[in-house]
Amino acid sequence: MKFVVVSGGVISGIGKGVIASSTGLLFKTRGYKVSAIKIDPYMNIDAGTMSPLEHGEVFVLDDGGEVDLDLGNYERYLDVTLTRENNITTGKIYSHVIERERKGDYLGKTVQVVPHITNAIQDWIERVAKIPVDDSDEEPDVCIVELGGTVGDIESAPFVEALRQFQFRVGSENFALIHVSLVPVVNGEQKTKPTQVAVRDLRGLGLTPDIVACRCTQKLEASTCEKISMFCHVGPDQVLVVHDLSSIYHVPLLLDQQKIIQQLSKKLHLENLTPKESFVSKGTALWNDWKLLTSTHDRMFEGVNIVLVGKYTHLKDSYISVIKALEHSALRCQRKLTINWVEATDLEVDASETNRVNFHKAWHNVCSADGILVPGGFGSRGTEGMVAAAKWARENKVPYLGICLGLQIAVIEYARNVMGITDAQSEELVPEPPANPLVVFMPEVSKTHLGGTMRLGLRPTKFQANTEWSKLRQLYGGVDTVHERHRHRYEINPKYVLELEKAGLDFVGKDERGERMEILELKNHPYFVGTQYHPEYLSRVLEPSKPYLGFLAASSGILDAMLKK
Ligand code: GLN
Repeated sequence: MKFVVVSGGVISGIGKGVIASSTGLLFKTRGYKVSAIKIDPYMNIDAGTMSPLEHGEVFVLDDGGEVDLDLGNYERYLDVTLTRENNITTGKIYSHVIERERKGDYLGKTVQVVPHITNAIQDWIERVAKIPVDDSDEEPDVCIVELGGTVGDIESAPFVEALRQFQFRVGSENFALIHVSLVPVVNGEQKTKPTQVAVRDLRGLGLTPDIVACRCTQKLEASTCEKISMFCHVGPDQVLVVHDLSSIYHVPLLLDQQKIIQQLSKKLHLENLTPKESFVSKGTALWNDWKLLTSTHDRMFEGVNIVLVGKYTHLKDSYISVIKALEHSALRCQRKLTINWVEATDLEVDASETNRVNFHKAWHNVCSADGILVPGGFGSRGTEGMVAAAKWARENKVPYLGICLGLQIAVIEYARNVMGITDAQSEELVPEPPANPLVVFMPEVSKTHLGGTMRLGLRPTKFQANTEWSKLRQLYGGVDTVHERHRHRYEINPKYVLELEKAGLDFVGKDERGERMEILELKNHPYFVGTQYHPEYLSRVLEPSKPYLGFLAASSGILDAMLKK
């Protein structure tokens, strides 16, 4: 097994995840089986209890793991299925070690960060790297290990020490390190000092970079690269430039041009690891598709304008998988995607008095949108604004996609404005039990423990009888059952389902027992779809998620033609 560690210097949030994923993708195009592990040095067991505004989106895996959004990047780039174990946190490692201590596994010993925590980290990486992640069902050849944060943080110190030891445990020919750094431009001058300091810190901790990947707004001058090479004590071909690009889908091409795989091969002696012929040809095909797709991206001129009515819109990373699923679909539809962000509270009546400028801007965006998307969310803030947006979409026949909370919102809106249940509500959104709870707490979900207790992960949805007309079902290829990932505590109240269906709101997809409403769709509408699940988690660059694809195609006015094809 070859390990490629990706660490960061200077500051975080400069695209380590994309560099890690792109490197993995390049290995894959050469025929290698690739897995990925993300290390998050925070104390939380997982990302599930964190606000999206804190760390961005919580990504959900097949096994129900609520993990860091970078695992979404890996799954999308590498087309793999990861497990919750692929996300290591300080919380997980400590609770594992403490549990073993209580069992008596370390009997007689003082349990310490070194060696017990650092050993536990190494054991974890070695164990998880071997889990098969693709349909070959074989052990991967290469594992990308991304270390969150920046080297030198107090939090990441045990992980850095574990990785230092790890290079000896697995042998230096099986261990390579990419250090991602930042080259700021000050008064027009490209500054290398932060990178010099970052690499010095890294070396001080016993790790040597095989590649220094320099993030910067513009291409680096040859003299800047020479300086980095000299002061960071690496060869000139070990300095890679990752400047800003029109699209992150170009990053693999940029790294490939700079011969990253050849560089890593030298260190990892890849000549001793020949991939199977069938994997090599699959890899070549993948690379050709990727290149074709990125060149298509640059030649799209006709636009489509999507409005996203959310509550975490100040941090775009809160919706990263939603954005990606829209991007994948836009690529397929050959449309240049514009996302207009609307903070849902700005659409509310209150805002018309307290913040008139935002109110009018927000409504202007909604009214001029080609499609309206209400994504997932928790808590009551902004939900009245979302209801108003859903009403607009339904009445004006504007394509609508409601994800999870967005489905619940569409049901509340329908009950209120079509069925006349004017006080229709969700139990989640009001302090006292509502008179007409259209959305209720699911019985099996814990009310006392919030971590990892929702209805989570991959579950089947069955299309109901006589739903051949459903646009979404047609998009899925007319199948009976689809498997998608879930993350919710509330559901449509079964008591109202018959009434809703009689009033024309069709639940075309339900769970295998017919009790949980999974998909809603309106018949006489260009595209009005809500899903209780989150289809964005399974969207792939070359295989866009179907509910999103339908939404984007409808918003571009080409859905009917697409369905005919
Ligand atoms: N808050 C809602 C629920 O728990 C919706 C969740 C979501 O959108 N992910 O059911």
